[in-house]
Amino acid sequence: MQIDNRLNYETRGRSTLTEDKETSGLTRKGAAPSILLVEDEPEIRELLCFTIGRAGYSVIEAESAEVAIGCLDNHIPDLIIIDWMLPGMSGVDFARYVRRDELANHLPLIMLTARSEEADKLRGFDTGVDDYLTKPFSPKELVARIKALLRRTGSPDDNILVSGRLRIDLGNHSVEVEGSNIHLGPTEFRLLAWLVRNPDKAFTRSQLLDRVWGRSVYVEERTVDVHILRLRKVLQPFQMHRCLRTVRGVGYRFSAADATVHPTN
Ligand code: CA
Repeated sequence: MQIDNRLNYETRGRSTLTEDKETSGLTRKGAAPSILLVEDEPEIRELLCFTIGRAGYSVIEAESAEVAIGCLDNHIPDLIIIDWMLPGMSGVDFARYVRRDELANHLPLIMLTARSEEADKLRGFDTGVDDYLTKPFSPKELVARIKALLRRTGSPDDNILVSGRLRIDLGNHSVEVEGSNIHLGPTEFRLLAWLVRNPDKAFTRSQLLDRVWGRSVYVEERTVDVHILRLRKVLQPFQMHRCLRTVRGVGYRFSAADATVHPTN
């Protein structure tokens, strides 16, 4: 059995693509479903990484919720496994964060916990956690739960947004217009993805700051204008800059209908 550990992409955390092609059988469009694993204990993380990787998933490791938040800025996985007891932000608070995140709130969550008391479990379910595993558990059990959850919740298509000629892959953070790749910074990406996910609705700058930048960050409202301008510039060659409409007195909205195809001679 061969385990291939490669650096998947750079994040503030450690990101490892672990693949085992022999046992995988889970390929979709050539890519294994990805799982974000948030666990602070290195031995457990290593063991779970190995187990999950061997089952055919790619694993992104984070040793804290803070690191995991950084990972989500770069990649929306197919499922998240969260350890309850983490240094800094707790697993429960991280689960709540995910449920508020406009691009990640649909993801299935599994919570790992050393506590088995019913009250704790209930508290966990209040945060929108989909499944629970009480330590110690068998790696096989975890893989079975992952499979079940992905089957139940996860069409891989949840990570793909399509609007007219525009295709956004939240999983690998790529944007295509008619098959041409568009390169966007992380903020432009989140802004565009969020607007495309909520078409034909006008949002104020303050609402966009809240949903795209997050509540904890202080940025001036005109920052939104700067990023909208950048997005329009990137979309202009495809005549899609018109999709990003200024709504007078309100802010901005995305409408695919505003994009018209102009043949280039
Ligand atoms: Ca822990």
